[in-house]
Amino acid sequence: MSETPWRVLDAELERWAALGLTPQFWLRDDDAVDATDSLDRLLSLCAKYRIPLALAVIPAGATVQLAQRLQGLEDVSVLQHGFAHANHAVGGEKKSEFAENRPLDVMTGELVQGRATLSGLFGDAALPVLAPPWNRVGAGLVARLADAGLSGLTRYKARAVHQPAPGVVENNTHVDLIRWRDGRTGAALADMTTGLAAHLAAKRTGAADAQEATGILAHHLAMDRTAWATLKALLAKLATDPRISWPSPVAIFGAKA
Ligand SMILES: [Zn+2]
Repeated sequence: MSETPWRVLDAELERWAALGLTPQFWLRDDDAVDATDSLDRLLSLCAKYRIPLALAVIPAGATVQLAQRLQGLEDVSVLQHGFAHANHAVGGEKKSEFAENRPLDVMTGELVQGRATLSGLFGDAALPVLAPPWNRVGAGLVARLADAGLSGLTRYKARAVHQPAPGVVENNTHVDLIRWRDGRTGAALADMTTGLAAHLAAKRTGAADAQEATGILAHHLAMDRTAWATLKALLAKLATDPRISWPSPVAIFGAKA
């Protein structure tokens, strides 16, 4: 790790190692509905570097072909990516499927239905963990997650608290392979390593919850050449770094199907 893109992260990992601490990393990919070439590409990368994958699947669109593609892949867990990935935001609000203006009972019903769909398709691989589309869900619905049979939540940026509601563990992602507001172009490797180092430093100094695993966010259907190259470089380097651990999503969320 002497090349420039790695310098800041390498230095931060050395600080953790000096403290006798091993930071946890994890990989989440969003928007899966079907078995596609780009999904194959992602699965191949994860298999090559033996990285556990948390695949956030949209229940309303999920196909039998996707379930068949994932069958037997023990290092792939399925998270619940909302219900239909429909935007219900009104006015100038940011995109959200679980917008504050919607009735809680309706949204809770969608979560229950989505959970049943994923359990039916993916069996034990489907974890009771909600990855809300656009990483947005209001506090009212978070308080209902346990009632909907969900015990995990994952959004974006450092979590405020470990348990945002009774019986619900939150673990977010912290760096994004796509720069959505910059023409949806792929993030450069240096941007990702800098972002990872920033979350590790925040955890080390107490500015962020040290127990939260540091998450990389991917979108296999929307990644350009740069994003794929960056993901490959990250996994190739970080998968075998003895200073890092890659716990499974089951371990991170303490969630069993
Ligand atoms: Zn999404």
